[in-house]
Amino acid sequence: MKRENAYLTDKQIAVLKDQLLSEKERISNKKLEQEKYQLDKNELSDPLDEASVNTQTSHDIRFINRENFFLKKVNKSLEAITRGTYGLCDECDSEIGYERLNARLTAELCIACKEEAEHLENNNFYDKKSKSLGRALHDAIR
Ligand SMILES: [Zn+2]
Repeated sequence: MKRENAYLTDKQIAVLKDQLLSEKERISNKKLEQEKYQLDKNELSDPLDEASVNTQTSHDIRFINRENFFLKKVNKSLEAITRGTYGLCDECDSEIGYERLNARLTAELCIACKEEAEHLENNNFYDKKSKSLGRALHDAIR
């Protein structure tokens, strides 16, 4: 059971929640634009354009994946606000801090755990892919 995020005032949480909601709206609007653009593009039937369309499509897919990934994190943060656990570190339950959250709305780790994760990422190839899988592999090859 996680501690409550009582170190954040109601007002601070309201400010962060507002920002999360506007991020969500921004991404949703962008996705609509993107979908509209996709439809326009499907009307192109010139085969000579196919190569450039394909390049554009893979760029779009990367872009959409990145936005979807961020949207998932935004939704996760909003759920955490509802649960009352927003602003607590996923790893160690410490307070992430208002300043850090303000700068990085979807932060899930406190600075200490984030630094540790980055350190592991730089030093352990397996940890890059998946933390739990990485640990299992690390133990297995030791
Ligand atoms: Zn932590």
